[in-house]
Amino acid sequence: MGIAELINKEKKTAFSFEVLPPLKGTGIEKLYDTIDTLREFDPLYINITTHRSEYVYRELGDGLYERNRYRRRPGTVAVAAAIHNKYDITVVPHILCSGFSREDTEYILLDLQFLGITNLLVLRGDKAKDESSFVPEENGYAHALELEEQINAFNEGKFIDGTPIQAPLSPFRYGVAGYPEKHEESPNMEQDLYWLKKKVETGASYVVTQMFYDNQKYIDFVERARKEGIHVPIVPGIKPFSKLSQLSVIPKTFNVDLPQELVMEAMKCKDNKEARALGIEWCVNQCRELIEYGVPGIHFYTVGAVENVKEVARAVY
Ligand code: FAD
Repeated sequence: MGIAELINKEKKTAFSFEVLPPLKGTGIEKLYDTIDTLREFDPLYINITTHRSEYVYRELGDGLYERNRYRRRPGTVAVAAAIHNKYDITVVPHILCSGFSREDTEYILLDLQFLGITNLLVLRGDKAKDESSFVPEENGYAHALELEEQINAFNEGKFIDGTPIQAPLSPFRYGVAGYPEKHEESPNMEQDLYWLKKKVETGASYVVTQMFYDNQKYIDFVERARKEGIHVPIVPGIKPFSKLSQLSVIPKTFNVDLPQELVMEAMKCKDNKEARALGIEWCVNQCRELIEYGVPGIHFYTVGAVENVKEVARAVY
């Protein structure tokens, strides 16, 4: 079943969680431990992020360097399948333009068909760390919209070269990302919503938002999206504030404002233990308000914050 249908079927506000594949060379057991504990909250689905390759340089001597591709967290598809098989939970692997050519994508889609995984989150992906702006992969895409088009063509039984797919297909269903405080590269919210609407018209059946710390930003975003004619579920993405360094890291990395009240309280914290407690309390209040508002679910970002997310989820479940 597609995520939008799952969401619409739920009577209470369902939780979903985003997890990362293990670092290259490490095992999956720690991730299983995380999911074992998240099952307490009966997750409606689990997202698995995808991470592009970065370029690493190896010194060869005499001022020469070798440039190699390195993926710190490979294995999204395999991890999604492993979670799906072990727990029988709906999984949503992320699929990216960033670092993937259209042939790479085609092979991923074929693998997912074999595995019976048909829910996706379709994203452009982050830029490479050593690039100042997003550079598409050779024979890849610049925007999530184009990736949606490839998936749609696949669903219609066509490979990228136009040849037909012989086997019967289970069509992919997918969501896309939305930004209550607009995407960092967007000149304004109107333009960002213009493209979000296009992504929905192209086939996305729901939207998951970037994290935010001021619920009013999410509410304004949803109201504006509805006025623009975007009527699919818009699931709020949530992550508890957890340490003092995030006062600058969150705005810089995610283009997200921290509300002044949260900042002032954080500045009174003596250490990260106090900052963590503040972040959990803030997030619990945020979730309670969002549930009261009638959100179609809460999607928790767990990276580096599994224990904090669990405390929040326990308080509001
Ligand atoms: P797009 O929809 O392509 O939008 C990017 C920018 O281009 C926006 O400013 C938009 O307004 C504009 N735009 C969109 N379409 C067009 C068009 N056709 N022509 C011109 N302009 C256009 N990153 C990862 O690397 N891995 C992950 O697993 C991952 N998971 C994420 C999960 C969620 C829920 C969210 C919110 C983000 C995630 N990201 C992830 C980060 C995401 O990849 C970045 O925010 C990226 O910069 C934008 O992705 P997008 O899909 O929103 O891009």
